[in-house]
Amino acid sequence: MGTRISTRSHDHEACIACVAEHRPPAHDQAVRVETVDAEDARHMDVALEEARRAAALDEVPVGAVVVLDGRVIGRGRNRMIADSDPTAHAEVVAIRAAAEAAGNYRLTGAALYTTIEPCAMCCGAALHARIGRLVYGAADPKTGAARTLYRLLEDARLNHQVEVVAGVRSDECGALLSEFFHKKRS
Ligand code: ZN
Repeated sequence: MGTRISTRSHDHEACIACVAEHRPPAHDQAVRVETVDAEDARHMDVALEEARRAAALDEVPVGAVVVLDGRVIGRGRNRMIADSDPTAHAEVVAIRAAAEAAGNYRLTGAALYTTIEPCAMCCGAALHARIGRLVYGAADPKTGAARTLYRLLEDARLNHQVEVVAGVRSDECGALLSEFFHKKRS
């Protein structure tokens, strides 16, 4: 289960820790609030379904969905081998499907869910599509461009930024990949 860590200003009066430890009101600090977002987990389940389907078709198991107003409007899975297309990453496939469904090349306010941290190309696609929020599962130490190698989606030099939430269902998302490559090697 993923957790979202957000920071909010400190409400001293309502702070149980402050009351318990009789801290003076002067200490005003940011506190970390961890929340588990059930909706994020639910949408990630759909992305995981797509990833499993990719594995069954012998593609690297990555799945993605685009959600707008709480509704899935585009789904995608890796299909580079099937399509002989190096750009057919799950995220690009899902963004294309969503844009077609919306009848709009801009997906303003939409959220992109993907089982693995997106690469530079997919982050680029999310930026061009004006995606508002990215939620990903497992980090990708080799190509991850949302947090691990680069932070393309939060780069203030670009004309658009995307909110990033990492680590939702990361164990399941990562396990699919490692099982897939383990089978390949054996
Ligand atoms: Zn990609």
